[in-house]
Amino acid sequence: MIILVLNSGSSSIKYKLFDISKNSEKLLDKGVLERIGEKISSHKEALAIILKKMNRDIEAVGHRVVHGGDVFKESTLIDEGAIKSIERFSELAPLHNPPSLLTINESRNILSGIPHAAVFDTSFYQDMPERAYLYAIPYKFFEKYRIRKYGFHGTSHRYVATKAASILKRPLEKLSLITCHLGNGCSITAVENGKAIDTSMGFTPLEGLVMGTRSGDVDAAILPYIMEKENLDINAVIDLLNKKSGLLGISGISNDMREIIKEMGKNKKAALAFDLFSYRIKKYIGAYAGVMGGCDAVVFTGGIGENQPLLMKDICKGVVAKSAKVLIIPTDEELMIARDTFELVKYANLRR
Ligand code: ADP
Repeated sequence: MIILVLNSGSSSIKYKLFDISKNSEKLLDKGVLERIGEKISSHKEALAIILKKMNRDIEAVGHRVVHGGDVFKESTLIDEGAIKSIERFSELAPLHNPPSLLTINESRNILSGIPHAAVFDTSFYQDMPERAYLYAIPYKFFEKYRIRKYGFHGTSHRYVATKAASILKRPLEKLSLITCHLGNGCSITAVENGKAIDTSMGFTPLEGLVMGTRSGDVDAAILPYIMEKENLDINAVIDLLNKKSGLLGISGISNDMREIIKEMGKNKKAALAFDLFSYRIKKYIGAYAGVMGGCDAVVFTGGIGENQPLLMKDICKGVVAKSAKVLIIPTDEELMIARDTFELVKYANLRR
């Protein structure tokens, strides 16, 4: 089945074209269109450019959608109802869901005769236990506004967990894994018997690990304190935590890990940024190994995780049992999306 996977951001669309069958997965083409809104006028134009490039008959399209709220526990074929729900969760992912919707609507217009599927970053976390996804704030806020931990990067964590099981030659359903996605955004997930039981990102991607520009965990009482001292409004403080903190905030140099590593030997703040980054990961690995009663492997992926195997091994030292494997696995969210799309279409065809 020829499947086009589209991953739309506010100013870019990444795509991969796969040929997927029961026994084989072939990547046929890939690329990225950037600067939508400048060089390319709209998502519509970007999509037309991508489709013109395709010299194969596309049989299905898989879309990455960041937020599926608490409705989408799994990937789904897209119909009007699904679109309404994705629209509803735009409020929770204002930077991510709207561009996905633009691309979904446009590609459903152009490729109207074939199935389209949505694969959500959040659905891997929908089965977490309440004790992991609830915040200890008055329960009515969960009931009224669905304030809970949603988790993100789920497609990447699911992909590397599956791959780890195949590398370890053991069924995923019998493994305790800790998967670390360390890119510009960073998150860590405890995967027990194939299911995510806890994850570091929360109601938004701000919670958890120290990231390129995000602070990760902070005491919420810091916010009003900074607001008062610096005469800032709440949006400015949230912006500070999202865009001016993390590696950038501590080092004062860069949000880019390559720069931090380069400067670490001669610049104390860069060394400190790396230290905070590693320490936070270590704490989470320890906590997740603790709640799972040990772990079989710690898996690293994302730009940082994939390129710094020695540093990653160092982070794991002393925090998991010596028998736990440390695996570096390049992520492939688009392949996971193509696989889900293939399964959904195959199942729908069987039921016809
Ligand atoms: P995104 O989260 O946007 O997909 P990536 O997964 O590509 O981003 O990760 C980007 C991060 O990976 C940046 O901090 C970058 O510095 C870091 N990175 C890329 N290559 C290396 C490397 N060789 N060593 C350390 N960090 C790297």
